[in-house]
Amino acid sequence: MVTLSPEEKRMAIKRSTELLRQGATMLGLQCPRCGSPLFRLRSGEVVCPIHGRVVIARSESDVVSASVEASLERLERVLLRHLDQLTEELAREGPLNPELVEQASRVLELLERTSRLRSARRETSPPGQGRGGAQEG
Ligand SMILES: [Zn+2]
Repeated sequence: MVTLSPEEKRMAIKRSTELLRQGATMLGLQCPRCGSPLFRLRSGEVVCPIHGRVVIARSESDVVSASVEASLERLERVLLRHLDQLTEELAREGPLNPELVEQASRVLELLERTSRLRSARRETSPPGQGRGGAQEG
């Protein structure tokens, strides 16, 4: 989780108050970038009190989407770090340690899954696809 400086926190609180006064609703979701609570404006836009319109979402599911993407990215980074450590240990050992190999293969499995999930998510939202397709006949 990203920690905010005291000044940023103060600004977030100030902006949040302003947003609420403008009729915005606080959502039970956090900004994937700074962890601040997100607000939905009357226009339907979802904003972060610090980043403003970072997440230009039409619906809450889009925000969830963005959060999931951020989590997957973080998970991938953590897994890669573990894989690095395991590789170091494997390189140090003389005979191959089956436990380390087992751990490494689990990490690799998870990595494969996260990257598959991420690319699947990218494929499910094609940019600007119009209604109705071309028909062959
Ligand atoms: Zn933010």
